[in-house]
Amino acid sequence: MRWGILSIIAALALVAGCAATGGNPGAVERLYVFNCGESTVPDLSRWTPGVNVGKPGAFSANCYLIRHAKGWMMWDSGINDNVATMPNGFQRGKLSPHYILRKPLRFALSEITVDPAKIEHVAFSHTHGDHVGNGNLFTGATLYMQQAEYDIAFGAEAVSKWNFEVTSYDKLRANKTIKLNGDHDIFGDGSVVIIATPGHTPGHQSLLVRLPKTGPVILSGDMVHLQDNWTHRRVPVFNFDAATSRQSMEKVAALMQKTGARLWINHDKVQSDALPKAPQFIE
Ligand SMILES: [Zn+2]
Repeated sequence: MRWGILSIIAALALVAGCAATGGNPGAVERLYVFNCGESTVPDLSRWTPGVNVGKPGAFSANCYLIRHAKGWMMWDSGINDNVATMPNGFQRGKLSPHYILRKPLRFALSEITVDPAKIEHVAFSHTHGDHVGNGNLFTGATLYMQQAEYDIAFGAEAVSKWNFEVTSYDKLRANKTIKLNGDHDIFGDGSVVIIATPGHTPGHQSLLVRLPKTGPVILSGDMVHLQDNWTHRRVPVFNFDAATSRQSMEKVAALMQKTGARLWINHDKVQSDALPKAPQFIE
């Protein structure tokens, strides 16, 4: 009998979960979008093979903070706040993005009276410098990372092979960490779900967020960089695995079809410029 009751409870929990995934807003209260850097590149075709050869391009770099009834979650952390102190911005190499940062993330968080050390959950789409730049602010959070990404981010070849800026996130080695091998529902109600989207890096991930008024959105990470790349399913030349990248795009397309979610593309500057930025928020 005891097991029977537990089964009923489990079934009810499943029903509740289904309700949350079927359009119920769940318990996300609001989402803040931060401008965590902007960049220009001299030759956009590295991101858009076959087109834009020799043409410059511009990217946004956003960070996102989600207020859920059960706590805060940070998604991506932009380029390092130190770039805000560099009068000419920062560029790693000649073909690399040239970054500027107008408002440090730490300051933007203080404007909404959020102490980064008290944020309960943190995840990054992947370990590139424009996403983990301020990772070390979130030492009090549970870290959610795909096992494949964790292994390279905290492995012996993080710098030598992967060119990761380890000093931006190395303190998180001590965080409580949940290593993933696929999708993961952060709060257990379907309202904030990590979607495994490998390809750009081995353990890349995106995030489904069910906003109470706006509806479901998917935060892309670098699963795709530009709306035009999404339309044409283009894969940048430097992605870790092109075929896996395309599979991840199709996975997200199917999820959008199923949920009605919109895709918010982190680096698409035109799209990002249209989103209200913190201290404003989106419901
Ligand atoms: Zn990026």
